[in-house]
Amino acid sequence: MATYSAMGLTLLARKYRGTGRVLTFYTRDRGRIEAVAQGVGKPGSSLAASAELFTLSDLLLAEARGLDRLSQARVIEAFEPLRRDPIAFGYAGLLCEIVAHATPPDEPMPHVFDDLVDGLKLIAQGEDALQIAAAAAWRILGELGVAPDLRACARCGADLPGATVFLAAEGGVVCENCFSPFDGAAEVSVPIPPPLRALTETLASLPLDRVPRIKVAPELWQALLRVVRLQARFYLGLELRADDYLRQIERRA
Ligand SMILES: [Zn+2]
Repeated sequence: MATYSAMGLTLLARKYRGTGRVLTFYTRDRGRIEAVAQGVGKPGSSLAASAELFTLSDLLLAEARGLDRLSQARVIEAFEPLRRDPIAFGYAGLLCEIVAHATPPDEPMPHVFDDLVDGLKLIAQGEDALQIAAAAAWRILGELGVAPDLRACARCGADLPGATVFLAAEGGVVCENCFSPFDGAAEVSVPIPPPLRALTETLASLPLDRVPRIKVAPELWQALLRVVRLQARFYLGLELRADDYLRQIERRA
């Protein structure tokens, strides 16, 4: 049986045959992979630490018919703070959910891997979780080819230098001429002021670890994340469970 090694971040874990787990990893070299880890639920399992959500590990896997098997794992970084702080947990979970459900299997996308891992690292270091999650998720949508164009009208193609409105149904912004009153329901649209469009252009050209230095109003990050959520729902068919979780946390706060 051929074996291979990979550096991977644990995105999902589901129970499998008693004490086993099927783990979903995002790896730098192979993209999204799934593997069975046996005996994870038993005390003293050497694979248990790497089965924890958000853990970055060096993995040794064996190819098998059906699901590959995880034979060894060594934790590189556990990102422990993400499990202690509910808000950090929610935003880290949102990034993992997008990557777990929107990336193609077995297809390396190194920039997605880097933005995911750098995003979790920055949130774990105590940087603003909303800001980092919005920035990383926006970039990941771009790497997946589904970031909306905020510069030109999605209906007529006109350049839009001023304020616009993002419409989920269009996956983009529309100009005044093309906007109809039926478009504007608050739950499927997001106003895009020029500073938000400028922010998205900055995000496209900056390494993620420079994002904490960007000083803009928190409302812009909120708006950017709303665009990401709508785009994920309409273009990727994702109902992000982390969103429900974050809303509950915010209600309690
Ligand atoms: Zn137009």
